[in-house]
Amino acid sequence: MAELEGLEFGKSDFVLLDEVTMEQFMENLRLRFEKGRIYTFIGEVVVSVNPYKQMDIYGKEVIEDYRGRELYENPPHLYAVADAAYKAMKRRAKDTCIVISGESGAGKTEASKYIMQYIAAITNPSQRAEVESVKNVLLKSNCVLEAFGNAKTNRNDNSSRFGKYMDINFNFNGDPTGGHINNYLLEKSRVVQQQEGERNFHSFYQYQMLQELLFRSDELLKSLYLQRDPAEYAYTSQGASASNNDSLCHKAVMAALKVIGFTAEEISSIYKILSTILHLGSLQFTNDGEHVIIVGEDTVKHISELTSTEAENARKTLLYRTVATGGGEVIEKGHNEKEASYGRDAFAKALYERLFAWIVGRINSVIEVKDYNPALHGKNTVIGVLDIYGFEIFDNNSFEQFCINYCNEKLQQLFIELILRQEQDEYQREGITWQHIEYFNNQIIVDLVEQPHKGIISILDEACLTAGKVTDTVCLDSMNKKLGQHPHYTSRKLCPADKTMEFNRDFRIRHYAGDVTYSVEGFLDKNKDPLFQDFKRLMYNSSDPVLKEMWPDGKMSITEVTKRPLTAATLFKNSIIALVDKLACKEPYYVRCIKPNEVKSSMLFDDGRCQHQVAYLGLLENVRVRRAGFAYRQPYARFLQRYKMTCEYTWPNHLMGSDQEAVEAIVNQHGFEDDVAYGHTKLFVRTPRTLFTLEQERSALI
Ligand code: ADP
Ligand code: MG
Repeated sequence: MAELEGLEFGKSDFVLLDEVTMEQFMENLRLRFEKGRIYTFIGEVVVSVNPYKQMDIYGKEVIEDYRGRELYENPPHLYAVADAAYKAMKRRAKDTCIVISGESGAGKTEASKYIMQYIAAITNPSQRAEVESVKNVLLKSNCVLEAFGNAKTNRNDNSSRFGKYMDINFNFNGDPTGGHINNYLLEKSRVVQQQEGERNFHSFYQYQMLQELLFRSDELLKSLYLQRDPAEYAYTSQGASASNNDSLCHKAVMAALKVIGFTAEEISSIYKILSTILHLGSLQFTNDGEHVIIVGEDTVKHISELTSTEAENARKTLLYRTVATGGGEVIEKGHNEKEASYGRDAFAKALYERLFAWIVGRINSVIEVKDYNPALHGKNTVIGVLDIYGFEIFDNNSFEQFCINYCNEKLQQLFIELILRQEQDEYQREGITWQHIEYFNNQIIVDLVEQPHKGIISILDEACLTAGKVTDTVCLDSMNKKLGQHPHYTSRKLCPADKTMEFNRDFRIRHYAGDVTYSVEGFLDKNKDPLFQDFKRLMYNSSDPVLKEMWPDGKMSITEVTKRPLTAATLFKNSIIALVDKLACKEPYYVRCIKPNEVKSSMLFDDGRCQHQVAYLGLLENVRVRRAGFAYRQPYARFLQRYKMTCEYTWPNHLMGSDQEAVEAIVNQHGFEDDVAYGHTKLFVRTPRTLFTLEQERSALI
């Protein structure tokens, strides 16, 4: 490998380091970054450093270089991993997945797009129209998902505020036949509130670019009632403003929506919902001495028109809620000002969340594999691509960071399972002499969060289910009491000297990636995520069919709503457990992304920040396991079957006592003795080159 590129670019595989130390690892990583070599292997894992500049390494010719080649034949690249995953899927009919991890801004989403482009480029050589159309929709879906699910944050101008797992289905030819997208935990609090310097989701600004068009005689646009500058709407005026780029993106999104097959009515409904949300943000409540009233009745009229609901119903829903009394009676209870504002924001967030989920569902309905008959078309195989939020440590960490970091613990656990533990278990099982590699097993942190009855999520849920007023701090007390002794949990009471934690408001988790202090404020509310049933009913009764479809649960009357919905944390936990199950049964490929600096610079390699990421991604352990280990293993019979023609003693059949002895004959004839180990049932091969040589010899003979 190293010879391919020349040593001035450093070692192209960390396995080739003279010594596996943090110093050598970092030196190599830095050298390669400075020389514009942003990818480096650890065996089959690709380590990527965000270059923060356009690289000329993704063109057609490069794709051709990687197409169908073995991993170690070319310099490290995302394409090499994509091709390996594709080959394994096609040759061995195995489901594979590519897990892309790293913190916000490390380059995960860009990597996932290059991987999808590569797969699209190498498939369907015969250009069959239906396959082309599937590919086109799969690629275009990214643009739509980014418009509605990404936002400018202080870390990344185009930060994904949701997790995405996409399955791509293939027929026996290896051509894409469809796919499915799963989305995870959209950060909907952003709809109503953004931090300094950050923005709401792109869609709101892209959409506001429509204003430019308002002067045209377009009835739809006029009917949206958005005549003001984005900076005047409460939900889009808190952080950074719109830019020219929004206008460009808007055109691309419109084109993508059309390619995917959204109808004109659906697109119109989407825009009406966005407009409704902006109008909701302008609603204010005040008190006339007797009742809470709405300031700006015009806005209510616009909202009711945009949502195709009765103005009087909309007004009432904003000011009252229906409650069932103990005796089964139904009464209307007026909100106070605070409740009314709370209801408004909850409604705005829910509208957006359901819109997003609906868009994903709509894309899925187009790309879903229909009428696939395995008897006719052969086995349907899958490549999954996971691009999910990385570990987050902010100045102020809340419920969202708690969920995101829990998700990362789960993925780290999967990595340990698949790359570190299973590997070592297999050597042990096969009786291979083996130096055990120590690594930190984070199962203990996963348990701290998710264990039934004892874990943090359970304690949160319990607090949410308790009738009456359980406050965040009461819940925190309960956590401190139950978890105070846990080695990865710190309550304020246990660290009185620590000034960084505020009394009774914070708790700290020692994550595998570092310590994170969470402010408990808002945890219960975000977990319970309540929305007055009246809003759901209002939407269900809309005469806009698209909107109505998003609110099926609005059908129930207040007396029917008895079962408590699952909490946000539990829903998230369930979806992440399902995701991990899905990944665990596939052959995994990993891309580990590193963010070189905090200032989006293409020149700066911040040693401290990079070293921290290398440490928590477990990359050194990964190199050690890989180096001590064996790149390939094959059951003796299978190895023999494939390579028996390369050895005079085994061709056409061997006369030795066992398959293992026959395999030994092949190995000895080629002089590979030092590169292999014999397990109970399998041959283990240390370096890929050995197998490569055998493959070449085999090809020459057939
Ligand atoms: P993440 O999804 O990990 O949060 P992104 O993939 O959105 O990060 O990357 C953040 C930004 O970094 C991108 O908007 C882009 O400007 C830059 N970037 C990331 N990967 C590359 C790459 N391979 N080439 C050029 N720029 C990149
Ligand atoms: Mg992203």
